[in-house]
Amino acid sequence: MTTVHEPTPTTAESAVWPASVTEPRPAGLAVGGVPLTEIADRFGTPAYVLDEAEVRDRCRTYRDTFPDAEILYAAKAFLCRAVAHWVNEEGLGLDVCSAGELELAVTTGFPPERIVLHGNAKSPRDLETALRLGVGRIVIDSPAEITRLAAAVGPGGHQKVMVRVVPGISAGGHEKIRTGTDDQKFGLSIADGYAQHAIARILDQPQLELTGLHCHLGSQITSVKPYLVAVRRLVGLMARLYEQHALVLPELDLGGGHGIAYRPGDEALDLTALACRVRTELTDACTTAGLPVPRLIIEPGRAVVGPAGVALYRVLSVKHTGDHVFVAVDGGMSDNPRPALYGVRYAPRLVGRHSTAAPARVTVAGRHCEAGDILAADAELPADIRPGDLLAVPVAGAYHLSMASGYNLVGRPPVVAVRDGLARLLVRRESLADFRARDVGL
Ligand SMILES: *Cc1c(COP(=O)(O)O)cnc(C)c1O
Repeated sequence: MTTVHEPTPTTAESAVWPASVTEPRPAGLAVGGVPLTEIADRFGTPAYVLDEAEVRDRCRTYRDTFPDAEILYAAKAFLCRAVAHWVNEEGLGLDVCSAGELELAVTTGFPPERIVLHGNAKSPRDLETALRLGVGRIVIDSPAEITRLAAAVGPGGHQKVMVRVVPGISAGGHEKIRTGTDDQKFGLSIADGYAQHAIARILDQPQLELTGLHCHLGSQITSVKPYLVAVRRLVGLMARLYEQHALVLPELDLGGGHGIAYRPGDEALDLTALACRVRTELTDACTTAGLPVPRLIIEPGRAVVGPAGVALYRVLSVKHTGDHVFVAVDGGMSDNPRPALYGVRYAPRLVGRHSTAAPARVTVAGRHCEAGDILAADAELPADIRPGDLLAVPVAGAYHLSMASGYNLVGRPPVVAVRDGLARLLVRRESLADFRARDVGL
C-alpha cells in the first residue's frame, strides 16, 4: 500500500502551523499527532486546539535565546490552568493584569513571587489580591497608585515595584495596540517629566522597593529597532536617576509585543537578532552611562501561544452575493474579535476533504448579527467549498478566547490540548446552563 502525501508545504506555509503538523492523507491535517477531523467529531465545533509541545518549545526557545533574561509569559494572550502549568514547568514567570488572572494562576500552583501585576487602572481588589497572594512585583502605572499601594502595603510591609514609563516610541501592528507613544492611557511619560516625578515619590515610600523601569511598546512588532530605541531612552532615564538620587536599578523590563506571522509570507520578529542587538545596546548604553548592566526582563504573550493554536469551524452556509462569496461558519467575533478590532487577516484551510477545485477568493464570515463579523477577508479556499466542510484557522492561540464574549449567547468554544497523538479537554464549551446560572434575577 502506498501512502499519498500532499506536496510538502512551503516554508512560508509551514511557518503558520505548529511544528507538529502532518498531513498523512491529502487534507487530513493532524496537529500533535491528532487529526483535526477527529477533534471536530469528538468535541464539536467551533473548537480551539492547543499544541502543548509547541507552547513548551516556544518557552524553551525564549529561554535559550535570552539565557540571562527573566522571561514572563503575558497571561492575557491566553490563560487556563494547563497553560499556567506548562509555562511554570518551562521556567517562565507570569505577567497578569487582574485579580482573576492572578488568582487562577496562584490557585493552580504558580509561584506568586514569579508573577508581575500590571494594569493602567488596578482596582482595589486587584491590589488587595496581589498583596494577599504575595506577587513578586507590581508595576506602577499612575501617580495615584503610589500612595494607594503604599497605604495598602502598610508601614511595616514591603513590596517590590517597577514603574511603567512611556519612552515615546510608535511601534506595533495597529494603532489600537501601540502603547509606547506619548498621549495614550498607559504609563508615565519621560518627555513631560511625569515618570521622574513618580519615581521620586516612590523613593519616598520606604515600604516600596523600586527594582526597575518597565516599558511595553505595543503588540505585533516585527522590527528590532523600536526595542533598541527603548533601551537607549530607558538607560538615559536610569542615568538621570543615578545623578539625582544615586539610584541604581537592578532590572530593566522591555515588555512584550513580539510579532508573529499570521499568514504565509508575513513577517515575524527575529528573536535571535532581538536578543543579540538588545544585549549589545544595553551593554553599550550602560557602559557609556557608567551604570552596571541591569537584568533584562521580557514579556512575550502572543509569540508563546499564538502559533500553537488552531481554530476549527464548520461551514454552515455559502452565499454568492454581488462580487463576493460569503462562507459562513459556526463561530465568529464572539470567539475571535481580532479582525473586527484591528482588521487582522487569516489564512484558513479546508481540512478533512481533498478538493481538486481551483482556489477561489472568498470571505469567511461568522454567525453573529453584525456585518463586521468577518473572520477572514479575502481568503483563498477551494471553489467547491460547501456547508459541512471543516475549516482550520492557524495562529489562533493568542487573543482569541482571552477576548471572547458572550455575544448572541452562542457560548465560548472549548479548548482541546493535543500531545503525542492524544487529545484532552482543557476548557469545556460554555453552555446554556452556564448562561442560566449567572442570570439570577427575574
Ligand atoms: C500585552 C502585554 C504584553 C504581551 O504582549 P504580546 O504582544 O502578546 O507579546 C506584555 N506586557 C504588557 C505590559 C502587556 O500589556
